[in-house]
Amino acid sequence: MSDPVVKISEGIYRLPTVLSHAVNSFVLIDDDGKVVLIDAGLKGSTKKILAALDFIGKRPEDVKSILLSHAHVDHLGGVNRLNSKSHSHVCIHEADEKSAISGIAPKAQSPLARAFSLFDRNMEKVAIDSTFKDEEILNYRDGLLVVHTPGHTPGHVSFYDKKTGTLITGDALFNMRDKISFSLKYFCTDFKLSKISAQRLGDLEVENIGFMHGREILNDAQTTLREFLKRKTEID
Ligand SMILES: [Zn+2]
Repeated sequence: MSDPVVKISEGIYRLPTVLSHAVNSFVLIDDDGKVVLIDAGLKGSTKKILAALDFIGKRPEDVKSILLSHAHVDHLGGVNRLNSKSHSHVCIHEADEKSAISGIAPKAQSPLARAFSLFDRNMEKVAIDSTFKDEEILNYRDGLLVVHTPGHTPGHVSFYDKKTGTLITGDALFNMRDKISFSLKYFCTDFKLSKISAQRLGDLEVENIGFMHGREILNDAQTTLREFLKRKTEID
């Protein structure tokens, strides 16, 4: 069995919650030793997250914040169960807040996705304590920058840890089979916008990248990222 956590940078860990890298959450250790969790996986992921926290010597009560990249069931599904133990502060971008608290996922562009209402299933209502905005610098570590990357959902965000130059993409970019790609069109509220907004990530000084779907890219990840984004601009 693989380890329940993968260290991707100083104080930043990837927590696989489905298989070895199909769905990931991330842990950032703040300067006070407390845990900032980015995404909480599916409803059934809590056990894995708690085991991963234990592996890095943290208890549920150490989780002070849960930041959500967006309101889809594989990212916020585990919040309620986890929070019954951790009582942490839950935040999401203001444009996805309604979806989180109503339990109704943002409307996918694809009629097929809507017909199957894939993301509406099992989506619990999640209480949100506060919302963040584009370019807000959250007060963790040396500052955690919120980069609004809409299109996958209206309030989709990526996060950038200034201390280590680590980018956490959310679903703005995938890295399944170690190949960067844009978000899956099928699940997006606006696929075209998701491709445009992902270009913003190329402006950051990135050393490492963590993906919610796929394995990380470590050390000078910026070159790989910029090459991907440039190639895609030339094609379009
Ligand atoms: Zn998603």
